[in-house]
Amino acid sequence: MSMRLILLGPPGAGKGTQAARLASRLGVPAISTGDIFRANVSEGTELGQLAQKYMDAGEYVPDEVTNQMVAARLSQPDAEAGFLLDGYPRTEAQVAELDSILEANGHQLSHVVELTADTDEVVARLLNRAKEQGRADDTESVIRRRLDVYAEQTAPLVQTYADRGLLVQVDGMGEVDEVTARLTDALGVTTD
Ligand code: ADP
Repeated sequence: MSMRLILLGPPGAGKGTQAARLASRLGVPAISTGDIFRANVSEGTELGQLAQKYMDAGEYVPDEVTNQMVAARLSQPDAEAGFLLDGYPRTEAQVAELDSILEANGHQLSHVVELTADTDEVVARLLNRAKEQGRADDTESVIRRRLDVYAEQTAPLVQTYADRGLLVQVDGMGEVDEVTARLTDALGVTTD
């Protein structure tokens, strides 16, 4: 069965790590808007130049730009039979865009997974990642801004999808393997 999934959750909840694991088990591409933006920044593309100032400030890249990029990515052949979106949608306008992309293709979302995590833990994880990977948006003040933007603009989407009966909540605290097992259980993915 083709799975079309969204992974929601605050910065630092472990979405990227879990998205890669889950997508490979499901045989669908993990599509991370953050990764696509970062790749564009390091390649110095026009999109990268535009996105960088928002990313470095912990702000969202404008919806129009992000929506166009995702529409292009979802039209690639590998996303035809399913996908796992990590970091999109993050605003109500992005929800509307994704709805229209899916509708145009006669597709529906399978589930929306919220990976939950407590704030102290996510701040600690992000600060640690800053040391290890040196991401420009992992400084303490930018981390705070990203968490605020998440609370303001993205956390409300949890209710939007709960109202549609699509929400699955999974505890993102604990060991990476443990969280993966919770996710596969919650989604009824059989592990061999
Ligand atoms: P994190 O989940 O750790 O905040 P991501 O790697 O998902 O980080 O995203 C990094 C940055 O890329 C965001 O802070 C934002 O500037 C930009 N970005 C990613 N996804 C979106 C999106 N859907 N809409 C707008 N901006 C986005």
